[in-house]
Amino acid sequence: LLKVKHLHKKFGENVVLNDIDLVVNKGEVVVVIGPSGCGKSTFLRCLNGLEKVQGGVVTVDGLPVEPDKKSIIKLRQKIGMVFQSYELFPHLSVIDNLILAPTKVQKRNKEEVIREAIELLEKVNLVEKKDFFARQLSGGQKQRVAIVRALLMHPDILLFDEVTAALDPEMVHEVLQTMLNLAKSGSTMIIVTHEMNFARAIADRILFFDKGEIVEQTDDVKAFFEKPKTKRAQRFLSTFS
Ligand code: ATP
Ligand code: MG
Repeated sequence: LLKVKHLHKKFGENVVLNDIDLVVNKGEVVVVIGPSGCGKSTFLRCLNGLEKVQGGVVTVDGLPVEPDKKSIIKLRQKIGMVFQSYELFPHLSVIDNLILAPTKVQKRNKEEVIREAIELLEKVNLVEKKDFFARQLSGGQKQRVAIVRALLMHPDILLFDEVTAALDPEMVHEVLQTMLNLAKSGSTMIIVTHEMNFARAIADRILFFDKGEIVEQTDDVKAFFEKPKTKRAQRFLSTFS
């Protein structure tokens, strides 16, 4: 579904991603971990065509991701992204935030989108907030709305960049639970997180990044957390215990 080949990314002289290769199949949950500044967010942004790259190709469903091309609009509908800051419109209601892109960008029927939005809000226990302004919600509630907003576009892949990092501890659980439910329902996801217990619970595959490279990649998630193969991953994990 997603293919990354020889991806290179620099900011000026600073090499941020160095020869990254990755294949993600439908239904897989890939979790990206690694030290601060190692290039995780930049990597997700490259997958979504938000960054110009210096080399390599990213394709989604066979379509190349190229930030300048018109096709990016079509592509963005294949890849949904949820950020640390939820970027809802504070002065719009929850439901208006949700239906904006599907009706304006995808030109879907408004009633049908509202119906689906309400179904999804029910799943994340927020249907009673549908007419609240976004600014009247807690951080965890906003983040769940942001996830619903991404889902409403029917993306093939969902990217999550530290979606719980800005939340109070008591809000974290409800957002992680929402993502675990998505994983169970078969969504294809690439998740950047600093929550190691969550990573272990949700991942089909772990990518450990350091200094812009994939240092360790494994489907044996349990073994990775018990005894990573590389020194760098061992050192990184030891900072969490
Ligand atoms: P964190 O865990 O702290 O979020 P990260 O792994 O997501 O870190 P990135 O945000 O991808 O790291 O940053 C990787 C490197 O790229 C850093 O050295 C950063 O300074 C640099 N960088 C990121 N964005 C830009 C930018 N817009 N312009 C210049 N340099 C940038
Ligand atoms: Mg980051």
